[in-house]
Amino acid sequence: MDLIRITDVQKTYKTGTVALYDVDLTISKGEFVFIIGASGSGKSTLIKMLYREEKPDKGSIMIGGINVAKLKDRKVYILRRKLGVVFQDFKLLPRLTVYENVAFAMEVFGYDKKKIHKRVMEVLELVGLKGKVRQYPDQLSGGEQQRVVIARAIVNNPKLLICDEPTGNLDPDTSMGIMKVLDDINKMGTTIVMTTHNRDIVNTMKKRVVVLNEGKIVQDYERGKYYEVL
Ligand code: ADP
Repeated sequence: MDLIRITDVQKTYKTGTVALYDVDLTISKGEFVFIIGASGSGKSTLIKMLYREEKPDKGSIMIGGINVAKLKDRKVYILRRKLGVVFQDFKLLPRLTVYENVAFAMEVFGYDKKKIHKRVMEVLELVGLKGKVRQYPDQLSGGEQQRVVIARAIVNNPKLLICDEPTGNLDPDTSMGIMKVLDDINKMGTTIVMTTHNRDIVNTMKKRVVVLNEGKIVQDYERGKYYEVL
């Protein structure tokens, strides 16, 4: 079943730059998809459309039955509840502990403390940080901080996890550790769409690879490899 259906999408920024052109892309529930391409090819713009940070000028973007392109500002929360987002620069709240950073994402939905505790410990175990719940972000390595960000992004059980260069600031070994966590999350049923520049990651993971060039999808490989496409 389709989770994401992008049809005939075009995006021109106010500056006149055409960032996306005639983009059609369908992603099924449970897939793991890499979006790759040179800098400026439109990867971030495409991903921003998915969580409604940007709107297309033309075309439609359906995510789990919601027409994201037409979604009114006051209804964006309905979409955001269905998805989690992970960026390159980890944005953790510095004065909150690991536990509190993750719990915060559930508290805004008003769950009771017991339920929050159970779920937060579950996701912290999944990302391998159960032993660090009382530490503060600045007491963690970059890789550990990114694990907290991932835990926070999945704590509300999103159907879709969007990752924009999640390993961009990490060394190769740490990056592979993060990919293992993302793979585990995907295996539990969450669809993942991830942009990356890291060819080792793409080659190792052997997932679907969508290639953008100057705002157009030029290739779409099932279980692709980076060296085949560039
Ligand atoms: P990538 O993520 O592949 O590097 P982007 O989606 O960031 O590519 O950018 C695609 C094109 O759109 C580039 O030419 C970039 O300069 C332009 N662009 C991106 N964001 C903006 C913006 N907010 N305003 C104007 N142009 C932008």
